[in-house]
Amino acid sequence: MRVLGIETSCDETGVALFDTRLPAGEGLLADALYSQVAMHAEYGGVVPELASRDHTRKLLPLIDQVLGEAGLEKRDLDGIAYTAGPGLVGALMVGASTAHGMAWALGVPVLGVHHMEGHLLAPMLEENAPAFPFVALLVSGGHTQLVEVAGLGRYRLLGESVDDAAGEAFDKAAKMLGLAYPGGPRVAKLAEQGDPTRFRFPRPMTDRPGLDFSFSGLKTHTLTTLKKLEADGVLDDQARADVARAFEEAVVDTMVIKCRRALDETGLKRLVMAGGVSANTRLRERLAVEIEKRGAKTFYPRARFCTDNGAMIAYVGAQRLATGERDTRGLMQATPRWPLDQLAPPAE
Ligand code: ATP
Ligand code: MG
Ligand code: FE
Repeated sequence: MRVLGIETSCDETGVALFDTRLPAGEGLLADALYSQVAMHAEYGGVVPELASRDHTRKLLPLIDQVLGEAGLEKRDLDGIAYTAGPGLVGALMVGASTAHGMAWALGVPVLGVHHMEGHLLAPMLEENAPAFPFVALLVSGGHTQLVEVAGLGRYRLLGESVDDAAGEAFDKAAKMLGLAYPGGPRVAKLAEQGDPTRFRFPRPMTDRPGLDFSFSGLKTHTLTTLKKLEADGVLDDQARADVARAFEEAVVDTMVIKCRRALDETGLKRLVMAGGVSANTRLRERLAVEIEKRGAKTFYPRARFCTDNGAMIAYVGAQRLATGERDTRGLMQATPRWPLDQLAPPAE
């Protein structure tokens, strides 16, 4: 089945084509992404109304682009998938209405996909895709979760952040350090110049059992440290880099500890990392080393598919559409709040 996937949940317009008939790792026919990041940077964060309007402008040209790259026409499509949530409601509506309009015109089935299921299964687009079951560390701008994954749509939440998401914490730390939005990659870059031994930041919620996370204390600690350096008149570029490094070390360490715990608790030997923060090089390296020490293996998407993209939506949509799943009663879906563990596997 050849499926067009559309992602418009936030500030990235993503479009891709996935074919379920091709061998594993080869199903992705084309993908294109337009990032609105530069437009929102001016405001220090995503402006929802501007996001919706920009999706409207970019979506149809991107669809034509991927069809062109794959050498296909609209009538070659067997189905259409779009992100139905969670996300910004106006932005979601652009993808949902375009998908439903096209599907109706072409007479093909259509399905709304869960954005986080997309992130979670993005490593399936790679040649060395993980087999089920596995533990997934989902770390993005809005989510920090550990999930036990038994199969498509079979998700058990093991733990999550009780306050800020990891990506959000990176973005806020970036702001404090005077770096532009989105800050995650910029904090990581600055941290490369930092001395890991100068400051030691707390590893929140690691001293007690459980798999939940908390990042708001770390955020406060970062701010307090910067304020003190400033008051002492020693807040120079090196000090900023040292703070960035201490912050990153604390986040990475916390994740390593929790992932080890999750593998112990479930007895599983595969760890999948996905979501924007999984693009972080230090996180990938540390996790790979620490997890391999336990005889387990790590999997992650290529960097481009860690953040929002159309490929992950085309993939999940194609898997589910191929089993006969459709939008309920043919109605368009936009579900701004939608817990991942409410999903079900496709009917047998
Ligand atoms: P959600 O998927 O939860 O709705 P989102 O779609 O906004 O949120 P993603 O696009 O998956 O999130 O990821 C974006 C986040 O990842 C941002 O917070 C960004 O700062 C962070 N990020 C991206 N690259 C890195 C990196 N190298 N290091 C740390 N954080 C990063
Ligand atoms: Mg984004
Ligand atoms: Fe996302």
